[in-house]
Parts: sequence; structure tokens; C-alpha cells
Amino acid sequence: MSTSYWKNSVILPQESPDITIVGGGFIGLSVAYWLLLKKPSLKVWVLDHQNLGEGASGRNAGFLTKGSLSFYEHLTHKWGGDSALEVFNFAKESIELTIGHLNPTDVIHTRSYSLYRQKKDFQFNGFTKVASPLEQFENCFVSEGEKSIHPLRLLESLEEKVVEMGAVIYRGIQVLGIEADLIHTTRGTIKKTQGVLALNGFSDSVAPGLVTPQRGQMQCVELASDLYLPGLIYEPESRVYFKFLEPGVMVIGGKRLVDEQAEQTSLLGINPLIQQELSRYVETNLSKIKKIRAQWAGIMGFSSDELPLLEKRNSYYFIAGFSGHGMGLGFASARNLAEMITDHKTSFFHSLRTRCRL
Ligand SMILES: Cc1cc2nc3c(=O)[nH]c(=O)nc-3n(C[C@H](O)[C@H](O)[C@H](O)COP(=O)(O)OP(=O)(O)OC[C@H]3O[C@@H](n4cnc5c(N)ncnc54)[C@H](O)[C@@H]3O)c2cc1C
Repeated sequence: MSTSYWKNSVILPQESPDITIVGGGFIGLSVAYWLLLKKPSLKVWVLDHQNLGEGASGRNAGFLTKGSLSFYEHLTHKWGGDSALEVFNFAKESIELTIGHLNPTDVIHTRSYSLYRQKKDFQFNGFTKVASPLEQFENCFVSEGEKSIHPLRLLESLEEKVVEMGAVIYRGIQVLGIEADLIHTTRGTIKKTQGVLALNGFSDSVAPGLVTPQRGQMQCVELASDLYLPGLIYEPESRVYFKFLEPGVMVIGGKRLVDEQAEQTSLLGINPLIQQELSRYVETNLSKIKKIRAQWAGIMGFSSDELPLLEKRNSYYFIAGFSGHGMGLGFASARNLAEMITDHKTSFFHSLRTRCRL
């Protein structure tokens, strides 16, 4: 890809900020928000080498969600029921904070449905068994208090707020490395600053090995019928999730494991095999497709236990590993990281891991 002279002519001022956040997606901008809310006098820069929403934050399904029943089943097996419930309550608070503080447009207040063909006995506080909206699924569990969002609208309102609060956002600047209090970028080195890496699936480019990049495929389809189902829908047995935008129009994602190796990448390519599987799922289970309106990919960052990593590493802070749940868990995680920086608080997820390993 070629780059214009104009884009390459961004110049960073000589004077360094107190804090430099690398990555201007939902998480990086949210960290800036909480830092400035707590300490309005801080000088905060956010650097990103792409435009707003080019990372996962502008490419996701727009589920502002606590996650599926299967996510909590997995957490319960791994960490125990009490810890899983703590994560659920953390996500619940995160969603409420996102809506309360950012007040984005295009939000639908809704519920999520976790659908299963096979009998499901697992019970979890916060999920209630109800009749399924689709007859081929015998078991359906709902969780209230979920939101369907337009992810770009959310990012736009967040960016607007953060700029109003005094953050300076530089787009078109790539960070090449970080050491002590230096951040090396394509536009020079920033000195004497506290670095915060918020790169999620792109973390490898600056801090290799901390999270695994995983690509996710999505498509938006127009159906041949005017089928409409409300809410955010998870179908864990087929590893898909979808939502309707209006009667006869839906977005669907998932099926990553169909080509797992190819999807372990931070390159934004379309995977035809997975896209085909997503369309096949719609046609087999929902309705014939009239037209595919859009197909796209985004990059997630997975941690080994699928919970976020909020850490201080060497001289910098690190927030990543949202494992496909960054919109739901992100805003409260960003608040937690801001408190780690300003008040030396501990990471909620680090404490949880430490307790569970005892
Ligand atoms: C297909 C898909 C569907 C998803 N659906 C959902 C969902 O419905 N609900 C949910 O909760 N989560 C979902 N997720 C996950 C969610 O989108 C992410 O967890 C969240 O967006 C992570 O935000 P972030 O700011 O950490 O990362 P990103 O949004 O990826 O931001 C990272 C930023 O870093 C920038 N960057 C990268 N390298 C450099 C560098 N060297 N220098 C400077 N800048 C750099 C990138 O340009 C990017 O803007 C989905 C993800 C995908 C991919």
C-alpha cells in the first residue's frame, strides 16, 4: 500500500506528554478518558498508525455484552463459579458505565440469547431459561441488560469526548518499539513519558508473545425473507453469533475454527472458506440469502485464559488479551488500568488469577 506525503508529514511536538497511549481503539481511547477524568491536568497523547475504527473496535459485531452462557460455563470450569460470577458482574458494570458515560447514539437496549440444540443443564446466575425464538433449538437462555451498538458511532463519541477533555490524538503514526521511558515511532522518539500499550491483536508488533492474534470473519447479509429475531444471539455449538439490523438484514460472525491456523494472523484478509461457512449457516438455519452486503475481517487478541491482561511490564503498562470480549469488558478494564497508573491499584484480572491459582 502506498502512503501520501501528507500523511507522512505529521510532526510530533518536542515537549513530551505525561502519558503516551499506543493504540487508539476502544481500549486506548477509554484509558485516556478515565485518566483525564481522574486527573484533568495530565498531558495525554494517543498514537495510532491507522484511522479511527480500523482495528477490531470498528470491525466487530456491535455486541455490548457480558458474553454467552458458554463463556461462563468455560470460566466456571476453569476458575470456579464465584470467580465466573465476579467476571459477569464486572462486565455488567462495564456495560452500564459505557452507556452512562459515553451516551452513544444508535444503541438498542436488548438481551442476549444463548441457543443450544442439545440439552443444557448448566445454570448460571444472570441467565434464565426461556422458550427458544427458533424452533430447531431446544434450549435457550437469556441474559438481560445487553446492548446492540453501532461500534463506529461509539468510537466517534468516545474520541470526541477524549479530545474535549484535552487528549491529543495522532493518527498515521506507527510505534516501532518501547524501552524505559522512550517510545520510538515512525515520526521520532518520545522521551520521558509513561507508555501504555493498548494494541490488543496487534501487540506482537511492539511486545511479542504476550497475546495471540486471532482473526475473526464477519458478514452482513440481506435475506430473501423478512425474518427478524430480536437481541444478540449466540449459537455456541455451531460457533456463530449474529444479530438482526432490521427485518431481513443481519450480521453474522464466527466459524474461526474451520480454518484455525490460517486465522492466527494479524493480517486483515478475507477467508473465503469461513465466509462460505457463515453463509451456509444462514441458509441452513435461517433463510435463503438474497445478497451479501459486506464481508470483512478484524483482529482479536487472545490471552491464554481468555481474560484480559492488565499489567505493568518493565517500564510500561499493557492492556490487551480481550479474547473477543473487549467491547463488553473494555470500559471498566480501562478504568482499572487508569487507576493502576494514578493510584497504584491492582488489576482485577490479575487478582482473580492469583486467587484462583492458590
Ligand atoms: C470480527 C470481530 C468481532 C467482534 N465482536 C465483538 C463483539 O460483538 N463484542 C465484543 O465485546 N467484542 C467483540 N470483538 C472484540 C473487540 O472488538 C475487541 O476486543 C476490542 O475492539 C479491542 O479494542 P482495542 O482498542 O484493544 O483494539 P483495536 O480496536 O484493535 O485497537 C488497536 C489499535 O492499535 C493500532 N495499532 C496497531 N499497531 C500499532 C502500532 N505499531 N503503532 C500504533 N498503533 C498501532 C491499530 O491501528 C488499532 O487502531 C470482536 C472482534 C472481532 C475481530
